[in-house]
Amino acid sequence: MNTIVSGGDFLDYDLGQVKIYVRHNSKHISSSWKDNTLCINVPKGTPRDLFQKIFVEQIKPDALAMKPKNADVIDSELLHIDITTSSSVKYGEVQADYIGIFDNKVTYKILVNQKMNINAPTVRQSITVLVNKIKRRVVHVMVVAEAWDIARRLNISIIREIKATTSYTRWGSCNGRGVIALSHLLATCPYRKRVETITHEFAHLTYMDHSPAFHALHQQYLRQILPNP
Ligand SMILES: [Zn+2]
Repeated sequence: MNTIVSGGDFLDYDLGQVKIYVRHNSKHISSSWKDNTLCINVPKGTPRDLFQKIFVEQIKPDALAMKPKNADVIDSELLHIDITTSSSVKYGEVQADYIGIFDNKVTYKILVNQKMNINAPTVRQSITVLVNKIKRRVVHVMVVAEAWDIARRLNISIIREIKATTSYTRWGSCNGRGVIALSHLLATCPYRKRVETITHEFAHLTYMDHSPAFHALHQQYLRQILPNP
């Protein structure tokens, strides 16, 4: 097991992005804010447990006191969902980092360059656009996850891909190669409507038309998923 601090970065819920630099020529641990990233210089060969102790007792409290003004947005409309492909989203000068799930809410930290005024209309506008981007991403993940769950319950194994679209005119589609596309608008539909749409497209995997055989299969799927079809 490696017990010596190595360079790299990590996310801390309170601090946001933290970067560790291992320095050959420094004698003690020091830290400074560069934009919205806390940079920590650590002498080469520093044991991890010693670093942990100093980080918690000294570096973090100091850094929090000196932290540049951030615009933290925790949006109550974002639902609990497990996004394992964590990533940053950027819009203009504003950046959002996926932090984790707290109190059943997907939490992003919105980072604004410290030189910018977070109350300026242009910055507010960027933050709004960014939050909407995040919401869309979360909604897409939800719609796709639910469709995969229904496919699993119906034992359908010939699906290649399920994707969410930004369509406002088409609920769903299915192509001959096993790709199902579902409108993001489904996320705000009642459960019944979502199941009807998803199973409709699944039935098209077998019948590409709207023949009686297609409708019979669709009804069979509905009976398996809905309590009162
Ligand atoms: Zn159809």
